[in-house]
Amino acid sequence: MEISKPHAALLSSPGTGHLIPVLELGNRLVTHHNFAVTIFVVSSHASPAEAQVLQSSMSPKLCNIIDLPPVDISGLVDPNAAVVTQIAVMMREVRPNLRSSISSMKLRPTVLIVDFFGTESLPIADEFDMLKYVYFPSNEWFVALTIYVPFLDKVVEGEYVHQKEPLKIPGCKPIRPEEVVDPMLERTNQQYFEYLRIGSETLMSDGILINTWEDLQSTTLTALRDEKFLGGIVKVPVYPVGPITRAVSGLKSDLFDWLDKQPSESVIYVSFGSGGLLSYEQMTEVAWGLELSQQRFVWVVRPPTIEAADAAFFTAGKGGDDPLSYLPDGFLRRTQSLGLTVPFWAPQVDVLNHPSIGGFLSHCGWGSTLESITNGVPMIAWPLYAEQKMNATLLTEEIGVAIRSKVLPSKKVVQREEIEKMARMIIEDNDGKNGIRGRVKELKHSAEKALSKGGSSDNAFSQLEKQCKMCMERQKATAQ
Ligand code: UDP
Repeated sequence: MEISKPHAALLSSPGTGHLIPVLELGNRLVTHHNFAVTIFVVSSHASPAEAQVLQSSMSPKLCNIIDLPPVDISGLVDPNAAVVTQIAVMMREVRPNLRSSISSMKLRPTVLIVDFFGTESLPIADEFDMLKYVYFPSNEWFVALTIYVPFLDKVVEGEYVHQKEPLKIPGCKPIRPEEVVDPMLERTNQQYFEYLRIGSETLMSDGILINTWEDLQSTTLTALRDEKFLGGIVKVPVYPVGPITRAVSGLKSDLFDWLDKQPSESVIYVSFGSGGLLSYEQMTEVAWGLELSQQRFVWVVRPPTIEAADAAFFTAGKGGDDPLSYLPDGFLRRTQSLGLTVPFWAPQVDVLNHPSIGGFLSHCGWGSTLESITNGVPMIAWPLYAEQKMNATLLTEEIGVAIRSKVLPSKKVVQREEIEKMARMIIEDNDGKNGIRGRVKELKHSAEKALSKGGSSDNAFSQLEKQCKMCMERQKATAQ
Protein backbone atom coordinates (compact mmCIF):
# COMPACT_ATOMS: atom_id res chain seq x y z
CA MET A 1 0.00 0.00 0.00
CA GLU A 2 1.45 3.38 -1.00
CA ILE A 3 2.20 5.57 1.96
CA SER A 4 1.45 8.74 -0.02
CA LYS A 5 -2.24 7.87 -0.26
CA PRO A 6 -4.80 8.48 2.46
CA HIS A 7 -6.03 5.18 3.84
CA ALA A 8 -9.75 5.04 4.61
CA ALA A 9 -11.18 2.37 6.93
CA LEU A 10 -14.89 1.89 6.28
CA LEU A 11 -17.22 0.06 8.65
CA SER A 12 -20.42 -1.49 7.29
CA SER A 13 -23.32 -2.73 9.40
CA PRO A 14 -25.19 -5.96 8.51
CA GLY A 15 -27.79 -5.93 5.74
CA THR A 16 -27.43 -5.86 1.98
CA GLY A 17 -28.93 -2.38 1.84
CA HIS A 18 -26.09 -1.15 4.11
CA LEU A 19 -23.26 -3.23 2.66
CA ILE A 20 -23.82 -2.20 -0.99
CA PRO A 21 -23.52 1.57 -0.46
CA VAL A 22 -20.46 1.14 1.79
CA LEU A 23 -18.70 -1.09 -0.77
CA GLU A 24 -19.55 1.38 -3.52
CA LEU A 25 -18.28 4.31 -1.45
CA GLY A 26 -15.02 2.40 -1.00
CA ASN A 27 -14.77 1.68 -4.72
CA ARG A 28 -15.34 5.33 -5.57
CA LEU A 29 -12.65 6.49 -3.10
CA VAL A 30 -10.18 4.11 -4.76
CA THR A 31 -11.04 4.72 -8.42
CA HIS A 32 -11.67 8.47 -8.39
CA HIS A 33 -9.92 9.91 -5.37
CA ASN A 34 -6.69 8.00 -4.98
CA PHE A 35 -7.45 6.49 -1.58
CA ALA A 36 -6.39 3.09 -0.29
CA VAL A 37 -9.47 1.53 1.31
CA THR A 38 -10.07 -1.20 3.87
CA ILE A 39 -13.68 -2.21 4.44
CA PHE A 40 -14.67 -3.85 7.72
CA VAL A 41 -17.79 -5.90 7.20
CA VAL A 42 -20.09 -6.94 10.03
CA SER A 43 -22.18 -9.68 8.54
CA SER A 44 -25.21 -11.54 9.83
CA HIS A 45 -23.86 -14.58 7.88
CA ALA A 46 -27.42 -15.62 7.07
CA SER A 47 -27.99 -13.80 3.82
CA PRO A 48 -27.01 -15.36 0.48
CA ALA A 49 -27.57 -11.96 -1.13
CA GLU A 50 -25.03 -10.37 1.22
CA ALA A 51 -22.53 -13.16 0.48
CA GLN A 52 -23.05 -12.71 -3.25
CA VAL A 53 -22.60 -8.92 -3.04
CA LEU A 54 -19.33 -9.48 -1.15
CA GLN A 55 -18.21 -12.06 -3.68
CA SER A 56 -18.89 -9.77 -6.64
CA SER A 57 -16.89 -6.99 -4.98
CA MET A 58 -13.80 -9.21 -5.28
CA SER A 59 -13.53 -8.75 -9.03
CA PRO A 60 -12.04 -6.34 -9.62
CA LYS A 61 -10.84 -6.21 -6.05
CA LEU A 62 -10.41 -2.53 -5.41
CA CYS A 63 -10.64 -2.54 -1.62
CA ASN A 64 -9.13 -4.68 1.10
CA ILE A 65 -12.15 -6.40 2.67
CA ILE A 66 -12.04 -7.71 6.22
CA ASP A 67 -14.98 -9.75 7.41
CA LEU A 68 -14.89 -9.13 11.17
CA PRO A 69 -15.39 -12.27 13.31
CA PRO A 70 -19.12 -12.80 13.96
CA VAL A 71 -20.46 -11.60 17.30
CA ASP A 72 -22.90 -13.62 19.34
CA ILE A 73 -25.73 -11.38 20.51
CA SER A 74 -28.07 -14.20 21.51
CA GLY A 75 -27.70 -13.55 25.24
CA LEU A 76 -27.92 -9.80 24.83
CA VAL A 77 -31.03 -9.23 22.85
CA ASP A 78 -34.41 -10.84 22.40
CA PRO A 79 -34.38 -12.65 19.03
CA ASN A 80 -37.69 -10.95 18.26
CA ALA A 81 -36.29 -7.48 18.95
CA ALA A 82 -36.61 -4.88 16.20
CA VAL A 83 -34.09 -5.08 13.35
CA VAL A 84 -32.63 -1.70 14.41
CA THR A 85 -32.01 -3.00 17.94
CA GLN A 86 -30.32 -6.16 16.67
CA ILE A 87 -28.06 -4.22 14.32
CA ALA A 88 -27.21 -1.68 17.05
CA VAL A 89 -26.24 -4.44 19.49
CA MET A 90 -24.13 -6.25 16.88
CA MET A 91 -22.32 -3.02 16.07
CA ARG A 92 -21.66 -2.41 19.77
CA GLU A 93 -20.29 -5.89 20.36
CA VAL A 94 -18.02 -5.78 17.33
CA ARG A 95 -15.93 -2.87 18.64
CA PRO A 96 -13.14 -4.92 20.29
CA ASN A 97 -12.65 -6.82 17.00
CA LEU A 98 -12.56 -3.58 15.04
CA ARG A 99 -10.07 -2.02 17.46
CA SER A 100 -7.69 -4.98 17.33
CA SER A 101 -7.96 -5.19 13.54
CA ILE A 102 -7.06 -1.51 13.18
CA SER A 103 -4.22 -1.74 15.67
CA SER A 104 -2.70 -4.70 13.83
CA MET A 105 -2.64 -2.89 10.47
CA LYS A 106 0.78 -2.16 9.06
CA LEU A 107 -0.41 1.10 7.59
CA ARG A 108 -2.49 3.04 10.06
CA PRO A 109 -5.71 4.32 8.44
CA THR A 110 -6.15 8.07 8.12
CA VAL A 111 -9.89 8.13 8.50
CA LEU A 112 -12.63 5.91 9.91
CA ILE A 113 -15.92 6.16 8.01
CA VAL A 114 -18.80 4.32 9.68
CA ASP A 115 -22.30 3.89 8.34
CA PHE A 116 -24.74 5.46 10.78
CA PHE A 117 -25.26 2.25 12.76
CA GLY A 118 -21.55 2.32 13.61
CA THR A 119 -21.34 5.68 15.40
CA GLU A 120 -20.39 3.99 18.68
CA SER A 121 -17.07 3.09 17.07
CA LEU A 122 -16.10 6.71 16.41
CA PRO A 123 -14.02 6.97 19.63
CA ILE A 124 -11.79 4.18 18.24
CA ALA A 125 -10.70 6.65 15.55
CA ASP A 126 -9.57 9.03 18.32
CA GLU A 127 -7.45 6.29 19.89
CA PHE A 128 -5.49 6.03 16.63
CA ASP A 129 -5.45 9.74 15.85
CA MET A 130 -7.65 9.24 12.81
CA LEU A 131 -10.40 11.44 11.39
CA LYS A 132 -13.92 10.12 11.89
CA TYR A 133 -16.87 10.49 9.54
CA VAL A 134 -20.42 9.17 9.52
CA TYR A 135 -21.85 7.96 6.21
CA PHE A 136 -25.62 8.04 5.72
CA PRO A 137 -26.58 5.91 2.71
CA SER A 138 -29.86 7.79 2.88
CA ASN A 139 -31.28 11.22 2.16
CA GLU A 140 -30.76 14.58 3.88
CA TRP A 141 -34.25 14.76 5.39
CA PHE A 142 -33.56 11.52 7.24
CA VAL A 143 -30.19 12.89 8.39
CA ALA A 144 -31.94 16.06 9.61
CA LEU A 145 -34.44 13.99 11.61
CA THR A 146 -31.74 11.72 13.04
CA ILE A 147 -29.68 14.56 14.45
CA TYR A 148 -32.75 16.48 15.60
CA VAL A 149 -34.52 13.63 17.38
CA PRO A 150 -32.63 14.16 20.68
CA PHE A 151 -34.09 17.70 20.63
CA LEU A 152 -37.59 16.51 19.75
CA ASP A 153 -37.25 14.06 22.62
CA LYS A 154 -37.05 16.98 25.03
CA VAL A 155 -40.06 18.92 23.75
CA VAL A 156 -42.57 16.41 22.41
CA GLU A 157 -44.84 14.76 24.96
CA GLY A 158 -46.40 11.36 24.34
CA GLU A 159 -45.86 9.12 21.35
CA TYR A 160 -44.78 10.82 18.12
CA VAL A 161 -47.38 8.87 16.18
CA HIS A 162 -50.15 10.34 18.34
CA GLN A 163 -49.20 13.97 17.72
CA LYS A 164 -51.88 16.15 16.15
CA GLU A 165 -49.42 18.35 14.27
CA PRO A 166 -46.50 17.44 12.00
CA LEU A 167 -43.12 17.34 13.75
CA LYS A 168 -41.13 20.47 13.00
CA ILE A 169 -37.44 20.32 12.14
CA PRO A 170 -35.80 23.76 11.72
CA GLY A 171 -35.61 24.76 8.05
CA CYS A 172 -36.90 21.37 6.80
CA LYS A 173 -40.18 19.95 5.60
CA PRO A 174 -42.18 18.89 8.72
CA ILE A 175 -42.79 15.17 9.23
CA ARG A 176 -46.29 13.77 9.47
CA PRO A 177 -46.62 11.78 12.72
CA GLU A 178 -47.70 8.61 10.88
CA GLU A 179 -44.58 8.77 8.72
CA VAL A 180 -41.86 8.84 11.39
CA VAL A 181 -39.08 6.27 11.09
CA ASP A 182 -39.62 2.86 12.73
CA PRO A 183 -37.39 3.53 15.78
CA MET A 184 -39.67 6.46 16.69
CA LEU A 185 -42.87 4.41 16.74
CA GLU A 186 -42.64 3.55 20.42
CA ARG A 187 -40.62 5.71 22.77
CA THR A 188 -40.05 3.01 25.38
CA ASN A 189 -38.64 0.51 22.89
CA GLN A 190 -34.88 -0.10 22.87
CA GLN A 191 -34.64 0.83 19.18
CA TYR A 192 -35.73 4.38 20.08
CA PHE A 193 -32.87 4.77 22.58
CA GLU A 194 -30.41 3.41 20.03
CA TYR A 195 -31.70 5.92 17.47
CA LEU A 196 -31.40 8.83 19.93
CA ARG A 197 -27.82 7.78 20.63
CA ILE A 198 -26.96 7.62 16.92
CA GLY A 199 -28.32 11.16 16.48
CA SER A 200 -26.14 12.55 19.30
CA GLU A 201 -23.03 10.60 18.32
CA THR A 202 -23.24 11.74 14.69
CA LEU A 203 -22.70 15.31 15.88
CA MET A 204 -19.36 14.29 17.46
CA SER A 205 -17.87 13.21 14.14
CA ASP A 206 -15.55 15.30 11.96
CA GLY A 207 -18.08 15.31 9.13
CA ILE A 208 -21.16 13.74 7.62
CA LEU A 209 -21.25 12.08 4.21
CA ILE A 210 -24.67 11.61 2.61
CA ASN A 211 -25.56 9.49 -0.42
CA THR A 212 -27.34 12.28 -2.25
CA TRP A 213 -26.29 15.34 -4.22
CA GLU A 214 -26.55 19.12 -3.77
CA ASP A 215 -29.32 19.71 -6.31
CA LEU A 216 -31.63 16.92 -5.15
CA GLN A 217 -32.67 18.42 -1.82
CA SER A 218 -31.08 21.84 -1.68
CA THR A 219 -33.49 23.24 0.95
CA THR A 220 -32.71 20.54 3.51
CA LEU A 221 -29.02 20.86 2.81
CA THR A 222 -29.21 24.60 3.41
CA ALA A 223 -30.98 23.90 6.71
CA LEU A 224 -28.21 21.49 7.75
CA ARG A 225 -25.61 24.20 7.08
CA ASP A 226 -27.37 27.39 8.12
CA GLU A 227 -26.77 28.47 11.72
CA LYS A 228 -30.34 29.78 11.98
CA PHE A 229 -31.59 26.25 11.40
CA LEU A 230 -29.91 22.89 12.00
CA GLY A 231 -26.50 24.40 11.25
CA GLY A 232 -26.73 25.77 14.79
CA ILE A 233 -26.40 22.16 15.99
CA VAL A 234 -24.37 20.58 13.21
CA LYS A 235 -20.92 22.08 13.66
CA VAL A 236 -19.20 19.72 11.22
CA PRO A 237 -19.12 19.75 7.42
CA VAL A 238 -21.94 18.00 5.58
CA TYR A 239 -20.87 16.46 2.27
CA PRO A 240 -23.41 15.11 -0.22
CA VAL A 241 -21.25 12.65 -2.16
CA GLY A 242 -23.81 10.72 -4.21
CA PRO A 243 -25.53 9.21 -5.89
CA ILE A 244 -23.31 6.21 -5.23
CA THR A 245 -24.89 3.12 -6.77
CA ARG A 246 -23.69 -0.20 -8.17
CA ALA A 247 -22.56 -0.40 -11.76
CA VAL A 248 -24.45 -2.50 -14.28
CA SER A 249 -22.86 -5.93 -14.56
CA GLY A 250 -24.03 -6.82 -18.08
CA LEU A 251 -25.66 -10.09 -17.02
CA LYS A 252 -27.28 -12.33 -19.65
CA SER A 253 -30.24 -14.57 -18.78
CA ASP A 254 -33.78 -15.50 -19.86
CA LEU A 255 -35.02 -12.49 -17.95
CA PHE A 256 -32.99 -10.12 -20.13
CA ASP A 257 -33.90 -12.04 -23.31
CA TRP A 258 -37.54 -11.44 -22.40
CA LEU A 259 -36.94 -7.77 -21.58
CA ASP A 260 -35.17 -7.35 -24.94
CA LYS A 261 -38.43 -8.30 -26.68
CA GLN A 262 -40.62 -5.76 -24.87
CA PRO A 263 -41.33 -2.23 -26.12
CA SER A 264 -39.33 0.64 -24.71
CA GLU A 265 -40.41 1.85 -21.22
CA SER A 266 -43.35 -0.57 -21.10
CA VAL A 267 -42.50 -2.87 -18.17
CA ILE A 268 -43.11 -2.27 -14.44
CA TYR A 269 -40.44 -3.70 -12.16
CA VAL A 270 -41.93 -4.73 -8.79
CA SER A 271 -39.57 -5.26 -5.87
CA PHE A 272 -39.49 -4.54 -2.15
CA GLY A 273 -35.77 -4.25 -1.48
CA SER A 274 -33.50 -6.75 0.15
CA GLY A 275 -35.81 -7.70 2.98
CA GLY A 276 -39.32 -6.41 2.26
CA LEU A 277 -42.28 -8.79 2.56
CA LEU A 278 -46.03 -8.39 2.00
CA SER A 279 -48.92 -10.02 3.81
CA TYR A 280 -50.72 -12.81 1.95
CA GLU A 281 -53.73 -10.57 1.44
CA GLN A 282 -51.60 -7.74 0.05
CA MET A 283 -49.68 -10.09 -2.21
CA THR A 284 -52.99 -11.29 -3.67
CA GLU A 285 -54.10 -7.70 -4.33
CA VAL A 286 -50.78 -6.86 -6.03
CA ALA A 287 -51.16 -9.90 -8.30
CA TRP A 288 -54.73 -8.96 -9.22
CA GLY A 289 -53.83 -5.30 -9.66
CA LEU A 290 -51.05 -6.16 -12.10
CA GLU A 291 -53.24 -8.58 -13.99
CA LEU A 292 -56.17 -6.16 -14.25
CA SER A 293 -53.91 -3.35 -15.42
CA GLN A 294 -52.74 -5.47 -18.37
CA GLN A 295 -49.33 -3.78 -18.07
CA ARG A 296 -46.13 -5.76 -18.56
CA PHE A 297 -44.22 -6.56 -15.37
CA VAL A 298 -41.21 -8.23 -13.75
CA TRP A 299 -42.05 -9.09 -10.13
CA VAL A 300 -39.52 -10.27 -7.53
CA VAL A 301 -41.80 -12.56 -5.53
CA ARG A 302 -41.19 -13.69 -1.95
CA PRO A 303 -43.40 -15.77 0.30
CA PRO A 304 -45.80 -13.63 2.33
CA THR A 305 -45.19 -12.72 5.95
CA ILE A 306 -47.35 -12.84 9.01
CA GLU A 307 -44.66 -10.96 10.94
CA ALA A 308 -43.06 -7.57 10.30
CA ALA A 309 -42.56 -6.27 6.75
CA ASP A 310 -38.79 -6.38 7.32
CA ALA A 311 -38.81 -10.00 8.53
CA ALA A 312 -36.40 -11.08 5.76
CA PHE A 313 -33.85 -8.33 6.49
CA PHE A 314 -31.08 -10.61 7.80
CA THR A 315 -31.77 -13.42 5.35
CA ALA A 316 -32.05 -11.51 2.05
CA GLY A 317 -32.00 -13.76 -0.99
CA LYS A 318 -32.49 -16.94 1.04
CA GLY A 319 -34.75 -19.54 -0.55
CA GLY A 320 -37.47 -21.46 1.27
CA ASP A 321 -41.11 -21.96 0.50
CA ASP A 322 -41.89 -21.63 -3.20
CA PRO A 323 -43.14 -18.03 -3.34
CA LEU A 324 -45.03 -18.67 -6.58
CA SER A 325 -47.32 -21.12 -4.79
CA TYR A 326 -48.84 -18.16 -2.89
CA LEU A 327 -50.00 -16.40 -6.05
CA PRO A 328 -53.72 -16.50 -6.94
CA ASP A 329 -54.84 -19.64 -8.81
CA GLY A 330 -54.16 -19.36 -12.52
CA PHE A 331 -52.23 -16.06 -12.19
CA LEU A 332 -49.07 -17.41 -13.85
CA ARG A 333 -51.01 -18.93 -16.73
CA ARG A 334 -53.15 -15.87 -17.35
CA THR A 335 -50.20 -13.45 -17.24
CA GLN A 336 -47.63 -15.56 -19.09
CA SER A 337 -47.52 -13.23 -22.09
CA LEU A 338 -47.65 -10.17 -19.87
CA GLY A 339 -45.02 -10.60 -17.24
CA LEU A 340 -42.33 -12.56 -15.45
CA THR A 341 -41.99 -13.54 -11.83
CA VAL A 342 -38.53 -13.90 -10.29
CA PRO A 343 -38.37 -15.81 -7.01
CA PHE A 344 -36.57 -14.11 -4.08
CA TRP A 345 -33.88 -11.98 -5.75
CA ALA A 346 -33.27 -10.23 -9.08
CA PRO A 347 -30.22 -8.44 -10.51
CA GLN A 348 -31.92 -5.14 -9.81
CA VAL A 349 -29.45 -2.62 -11.21
CA ASP A 350 -29.29 -4.45 -14.53
CA VAL A 351 -33.08 -4.70 -14.66
CA LEU A 352 -33.59 -0.99 -13.94
CA ASN A 353 -30.99 -0.15 -16.56
CA HIS A 354 -32.87 -2.05 -19.28
CA PRO A 355 -34.61 0.26 -21.81
CA SER A 356 -37.88 -1.73 -21.55
CA ILE A 357 -38.38 -0.78 -17.91
CA GLY A 358 -40.84 2.10 -17.63
CA GLY A 359 -41.77 2.11 -13.94
CA PHE A 360 -40.67 0.74 -10.57
CA LEU A 361 -43.12 -0.29 -7.86
CA SER A 362 -40.65 0.12 -5.02
CA HIS A 363 -40.51 -0.06 -1.24
CA CYS A 364 -38.52 3.22 -1.46
CA GLY A 365 -35.35 2.00 0.24
CA TRP A 366 -32.81 4.70 -0.53
CA GLY A 367 -30.57 2.38 -2.55
CA SER A 368 -33.47 1.35 -4.78
CA THR A 369 -34.58 4.96 -5.06
CA LEU A 370 -31.17 6.10 -6.30
CA GLU A 371 -30.97 3.15 -8.69
CA SER A 372 -34.34 4.18 -10.12
CA ILE A 373 -33.44 7.86 -10.49
CA THR A 374 -30.02 7.20 -12.01
CA ASN A 375 -31.71 5.01 -14.61
CA GLY A 376 -34.45 7.57 -15.29
CA VAL A 377 -37.29 5.29 -14.08
CA PRO A 378 -40.34 6.87 -12.36
CA MET A 379 -41.71 5.09 -9.30
CA ILE A 380 -44.86 3.88 -7.59
CA ALA A 381 -43.94 4.46 -3.95
CA TRP A 382 -44.82 1.55 -1.66
CA PRO A 383 -43.11 2.24 1.69
CA LEU A 384 -42.89 -0.61 4.19
CA TYR A 385 -40.38 -0.01 7.02
CA ALA A 386 -37.38 1.98 8.30
CA GLU A 387 -37.37 5.53 6.83
CA GLN A 388 -39.30 4.49 3.71
CA LYS A 389 -42.47 6.45 4.49
CA MET A 390 -40.43 9.65 4.62
CA ASN A 391 -38.70 8.65 1.38
CA ALA A 392 -42.08 8.10 -0.30
CA THR A 393 -43.25 11.55 0.78
CA LEU A 394 -40.03 13.12 -0.43
CA LEU A 395 -40.30 11.39 -3.81
CA THR A 396 -43.93 12.32 -4.37
CA GLU A 397 -44.22 15.77 -2.76
CA GLU A 398 -40.79 17.32 -3.06
CA ILE A 399 -38.68 15.64 -5.71
CA GLY A 400 -41.64 14.73 -7.95
CA VAL A 401 -40.56 11.37 -9.37
CA ALA A 402 -43.21 9.05 -7.90
CA ILE A 403 -46.92 8.47 -7.44
CA ARG A 404 -48.37 6.70 -4.41
CA SER A 405 -51.55 5.44 -2.86
CA LYS A 406 -53.29 7.47 -0.14
CA VAL A 407 -53.38 4.25 1.88
CA LEU A 408 -50.16 3.51 3.79
CA PRO A 409 -49.26 -0.06 2.70
CA SER A 410 -47.62 -0.72 6.07
CA LYS A 411 -50.98 -0.02 7.78
CA LYS A 412 -53.75 -1.16 5.46
CA VAL A 413 -54.14 -3.35 2.40
CA VAL A 414 -54.00 -1.40 -0.87
CA GLN A 415 -56.82 -2.75 -3.03
CA ARG A 416 -56.39 -4.23 -6.52
CA GLU A 417 -58.34 -1.43 -8.25
CA GLU A 418 -55.93 1.15 -6.93
CA ILE A 419 -52.89 -0.91 -7.89
CA GLU A 420 -54.39 -1.35 -11.36
CA LYS A 421 -54.88 2.42 -11.64
CA MET A 422 -51.34 3.24 -10.51
CA ALA A 423 -49.82 0.62 -12.84
CA ARG A 424 -51.66 2.12 -15.81
CA MET A 425 -50.77 5.64 -14.77
CA ILE A 426 -47.04 5.01 -14.46
CA ILE A 427 -46.79 3.42 -17.91
CA GLU A 428 -49.61 4.91 -19.98
CA ASP A 429 -49.29 8.46 -18.77
CA ASN A 430 -46.15 8.72 -20.81
CA ASP A 431 -46.41 12.39 -21.56
CA GLY A 432 -46.58 12.64 -17.78
CA LYS A 433 -49.67 14.60 -16.77
CA ASN A 434 -47.89 14.83 -13.47
CA GLY A 435 -44.55 15.31 -15.24
CA ILE A 436 -42.75 12.61 -13.30
CA ARG A 437 -41.11 10.89 -16.25
CA GLY A 438 -39.62 14.16 -17.47
CA ARG A 439 -38.53 15.08 -13.94
CA VAL A 440 -36.78 11.76 -13.28
CA LYS A 441 -34.87 12.12 -16.55
CA GLU A 442 -33.76 15.62 -15.58
CA LEU A 443 -32.55 14.24 -12.27
CA LYS A 444 -30.67 11.43 -13.98
CA HIS A 445 -28.63 14.10 -15.78
CA SER A 446 -28.27 16.21 -12.68
CA ALA A 447 -26.91 13.14 -10.84
CA GLU A 448 -24.37 12.43 -13.59
CA LYS A 449 -23.27 16.06 -13.48
CA ALA A 450 -22.83 15.99 -9.69
CA LEU A 451 -20.43 13.06 -9.92
CA SER A 452 -18.50 14.26 -12.96
CA LYS A 453 -15.17 16.09 -12.63
CA GLY A 454 -15.81 19.41 -10.89
CA GLY A 455 -19.44 18.48 -10.06
CA SER A 456 -20.80 19.07 -6.55
CA SER A 457 -20.31 15.50 -5.27
CA ASP A 458 -16.88 15.24 -6.88
CA ASN A 459 -15.92 18.49 -5.13
CA ALA A 460 -17.23 17.14 -1.82
CA PHE A 461 -14.96 14.12 -2.22
CA SER A 462 -12.04 16.45 -2.95
CA GLN A 463 -12.68 18.28 0.32
CA LEU A 464 -12.67 14.96 2.17
CA GLU A 465 -9.42 14.04 0.44
CA LYS A 466 -7.90 17.37 1.48
CA GLN A 467 -8.89 16.82 5.13
CA CYS A 468 -7.41 13.32 5.01
CA LYS A 469 -4.13 14.51 3.51
CA MET A 470 -3.81 17.08 6.31
CA CYS A 471 -4.46 14.34 8.85
CA MET A 472 -1.80 12.14 7.21
CA GLU A 473 0.75 14.93 7.59
CA ARG A 474 -0.20 15.29 11.25
CA GLN A 475 0.06 11.54 11.83
CA LYS A 476 3.49 11.50 10.17
CA ALA A 477 4.69 14.44 12.27
CA THR A 478 3.60 12.81 15.54
CA ALA A 479 5.15 9.48 14.54
CA GLN A 480 8.59 11.08 14.04
N1 UDP B 1 -31.55 -5.72 -4.49
C1 UDP B 1 -31.26 -6.54 -5.57
N2 UDP B 1 -32.16 -7.51 -5.91
C2 UDP B 1 -33.34 -7.69 -5.27
C3 UDP B 1 -33.64 -6.84 -4.18
C4 UDP B 1 -32.74 -5.85 -3.82
O1 UDP B 1 -30.20 -6.41 -6.19
O2 UDP B 1 -34.09 -8.58 -5.65
C5 UDP B 1 -30.59 -4.67 -4.10
C6 UDP B 1 -31.00 -3.32 -4.65
O3 UDP B 1 -30.48 -3.15 -5.96
C7 UDP B 1 -30.42 -2.34 -3.63
C8 UDP B 1 -30.42 -3.15 -2.33
O4 UDP B 1 -30.56 -4.53 -2.70
O5 UDP B 1 -29.11 -1.99 -3.97
C9 UDP B 1 -31.56 -2.78 -1.41
O6 UDP B 1 -31.28 -1.57 -0.80
P1 UDP B 1 -32.39 -0.51 -0.44
O7 UDP B 1 -31.70 0.64 0.22
O8 UDP B 1 -33.23 -0.19 -1.61
O9 UDP B 1 -33.36 -1.22 0.57
P2 UDP B 1 -33.18 -2.12 1.87
O10 UDP B 1 -32.96 -3.47 1.39
O11 UDP B 1 -32.04 -1.56 2.65
O12 UDP B 1 -34.50 -1.97 2.54
